[in-house]
Amino acid sequence: MSSAPVRPDPTAEPSTDDEAIAFVDLGLRDELLAALAALGYEEPTPIQREAIPPLLAGRDLLGQAATGTGKTAAFALPLLQRMPPDRATADPVALVLVPTRELAVQVSEAFHRYGKELGARVLPIYGGQPIGRQLRALDAGVDIVVATPGRALDHIARGTLRLGNVGTVVLDEADEMLDMGFAEDIEAILEHAPEQRQTVLFSATMPARIDGMARAHLTDPIRILIAREKPVAGEAPRVRQSAYLVARAHKPAALGRVLDVESPTAAIVFCRSREEVDRLTETMNGRGYRAEALHGGMSQEQRDRVMGRLRAGTADLLVATDVAARGLDVEQLSHVVNYDVPSAPESYVHRIGRVGRAGREGVAITLAEPRAHRMLKTIERVTGQRITIDKIPTVADLRNRRLELTQAALRESLLEDDLEPFRVIVESLSDEFDLMEVALAAVRLAHEATLPGALEEEEEIPQIAVRSARSGRPGHEGRGERRPGRPRSAGTTQVFVGLGRRAGVRPQDLVGAITGETGMNGRDIGSIEIADRFSLVEVPAGLADEVISGLRGSTIKGRRATVRRDRDTDGGDRRRQHR
Ligand code: AMP
Repeated sequence: MSSAPVRPDPTAEPSTDDEAIAFVDLGLRDELLAALAALGYEEPTPIQREAIPPLLAGRDLLGQAATGTGKTAAFALPLLQRMPPDRATADPVALVLVPTRELAVQVSEAFHRYGKELGARVLPIYGGQPIGRQLRALDAGVDIVVATPGRALDHIARGTLRLGNVGTVVLDEADEMLDMGFAEDIEAILEHAPEQRQTVLFSATMPARIDGMARAHLTDPIRILIAREKPVAGEAPRVRQSAYLVARAHKPAALGRVLDVESPTAAIVFCRSREEVDRLTETMNGRGYRAEALHGGMSQEQRDRVMGRLRAGTADLLVATDVAARGLDVEQLSHVVNYDVPSAPESYVHRIGRVGRAGREGVAITLAEPRAHRMLKTIERVTGQRITIDKIPTVADLRNRRLELTQAALRESLLEDDLEPFRVIVESLSDEFDLMEVALAAVRLAHEATLPGALEEEEEIPQIAVRSARSGRPGHEGRGERRPGRPRSAGTTQVFVGLGRRAGVRPQDLVGAITGETGMNGRDIGSIEIADRFSLVEVPAGLADEVISGLRGSTIKGRRATVRRDRDTDGGDRRRQHR
């Protein structure tokens, strides 16, 4: 595999955005290009193509982009490139504000991955983490701070976070920060940053409040709208489209499970990077699939060999990047799987166009991490087609499916095969056993021979509830939103948290802890009541268990709290009990 940045093959079918722009074309320096090549990123996503050049030039930027579009790299790469080489002081040169601790950690990890060779020192700071460690790290000197607003302000007040050298401020997922009540904190933080600075604002939605914020703090910004409503509906092929919500850690198992149930003739699984292609190919081979990798780091000869195996039916799964799969037409393909939600609706349309051609029936499946749910909605809106959220097959579903396949195989054999040679066995066994028993034993042998692999080893994959963005109720009337064994309820449950005002708990601490631990959206959380010694948080009833176990595993204001379902939820006002 060469480590040089890849330029898409000019003879290949163009991407839906016809400009075949590579990372080298964006003006990024060699250290960053090397990091991207090592990560196996083959080409910039649309938002990266549009945002990186103006950000490198120092412009302010207002970008509408959700998680999954590649927006983190879009602001992180220019920011790293713009770090002054002779960073004399210990104070940070950039500040990134994010709504949750989960995102703070994720964004700093991204900075770290891209900026290692440049020696970037990145520090996430967020509530819930012991402040001592943050103080020591800040003291030792950092270049980039990625913080939740509450904790950032805390450090500014203590004088431990000094913004005097900050040249760039990024407000990431700004709409979510506003929803979580961070507006004032953000204003206060910006007051402390130098006036002469670059300000970058990313938001998945553009309500008036975000516009107001942009007008107040951005100077002549470049505006980028990635989820633009291009009329691609007409081009989108009619294929059955479904998605599964699944946590990252369970993705390989979920892919296996879905493929088992779907039994595709041949499938292509799209990944974001070469790295992921290689890793997933190995995992799927380990699970008994005949998977082949296809990515831009392979020679033409290698690629031809892979395609040959797929066409000949000696491979049934192709794991590929977009670049490598461009221009590829395989008759046999029945399924397209997006291992992640694609970075733009156009890319989704392009990928699923590989099936359902010429009247053939096709299936498109997307595995989406909970945070990428919004991007799915955008794709639905842009394509004008519905993506059904399905429940990941359970072990029981898989068992049933396998029995169905065995039954179908037996049926076929009964209808078509010459079974005469076996009559002697059945006849001699029937002297000793009941015919039904003989049949059962034969079915069992057939079942085990065609579908090896013990289901006992299969673990259940946790189902993730679908939530609509605004109502806080389970969204999508689709089939996937219920957890097994839980009542479907549009109601809410109050969760009791044994820390309150005396412990310095504020609503945003609770919201931050919950969204950080559960992947829930701030909007899903209802009213929050903070008493002296405890707090009550209203959450959708179906998610209460998830919230409770998440909060039990984390700290709030550095402390562990008693967390449980509030006793008075189903009846009258027993809140007084707590007081
Ligand atoms: P984000 O939208 O920033 O949350 O990024 C979503 C995911 O895409 C992250 O896992 C990134 O590592 C990955 N990613 C970002 N840009 C690219 C790219 N150009 N090629 C491949 N993967 C990418």
